[in-house]
Amino acid sequence: ATPTALLVGTGRGAQLGILIKGPEVLESTRRVDTIVLDKTGTVTTGRMNLVEIHVAAGVDETEMLRLAGALENASEHPIAAAVARGARERVGDLPDVEQFSNLEGLGVQGVVDGHAVLIGRAALLEKWSQPLPPDLATARTTAEAAGRTAVGVAWDGKARAVLVVADVVKPTSAQAVAQLRRLGLTPVLLTGDNAAVARTVATEVGIETSPATLIAEVLPADKVDVIRRLQAEGKVVAMVGDGVNDAPALAQADLGLAMGTGTDVAIEASDLTLVRGDLRAAVDAIRLSRRTLATIR
Ligand code: ADP
Ligand code: MG
Repeated sequence: ATPTALLVGTGRGAQLGILIKGPEVLESTRRVDTIVLDKTGTVTTGRMNLVEIHVAAGVDETEMLRLAGALENASEHPIAAAVARGARERVGDLPDVEQFSNLEGLGVQGVVDGHAVLIGRAALLEKWSQPLPPDLATARTTAEAAGRTAVGVAWDGKARAVLVVADVVKPTSAQAVAQLRRLGLTPVLLTGDNAAVARTVATEVGIETSPATLIAEVLPADKVDVIRRLQAEGKVVAMVGDGVNDAPALAQADLGLAMGTGTDVAIEASDLTLVRGDLRAAVDAIRLSRRTLATIR
């Protein structure tokens, strides 16, 4: 390939809002046949809102929101932002966190007001042997059936609340999926979120809901394995993501595309950055590389 054409392609990419790590990236872009899309922050806006609050019997809602809001205030996850904002709107200033750790793809834990607090998916709470009481379990399944994301809140060894957050699909995602299909790519939705939410989002944007194209409840470390498995099947895989949890998968993919609106870690792990965080730029990137390489050959 003549470097000149690739450099011209790289320059054209910048005009389209696509930052390309090196000219050679355009080569691998051309061969891609499968495109794996992270859900939260990639297909959806990632700007979630706290829409339902369920507390267990005897739990003070204000205290729960202070503890949960304070802990989530220390996390960068879209769910965390929704919980912290929703809590602040209802109870005002939040206390400081004394200790904090992020449990990638599962939730967060820390110490607030002397309580050991844990927030995250039900599987995480259960690992800590804190199953949800029946009323909270019902609230969770009802929310998930409606395509919303429910997280559990526990402190001092007991599950005490379920918080429900809702996200919206980006207005451009369905169009991008249709265009990717027209380019001959198979879109796959990959998420750590629950299967009901994943199904709702897939249907909304036009991704087939078969087990091969709808992959939910995947832990961050296992996102890489999904990419490896597709590659082992002979697919040439592009992955689009935004989160810290997507970074290993972005690096493993034949072509990693990061949302410019996402985390630095995701951007560093990727070959391309879609500056505006619009999935349609992934379509532009693939068209650009095909056109650029056609000029060369
Ligand atoms: P996605 O793959 O859709 O970007 P993640 O892998 O980031 O989602 O998160 C997977 C799941 O882990 C979430 O749906 C949620 O249940 C839980 N989780 C992750 N981080 C948090 C957090 N800060 N607070 C509460 N729950 C969280
Ligand atoms: Mg994400």
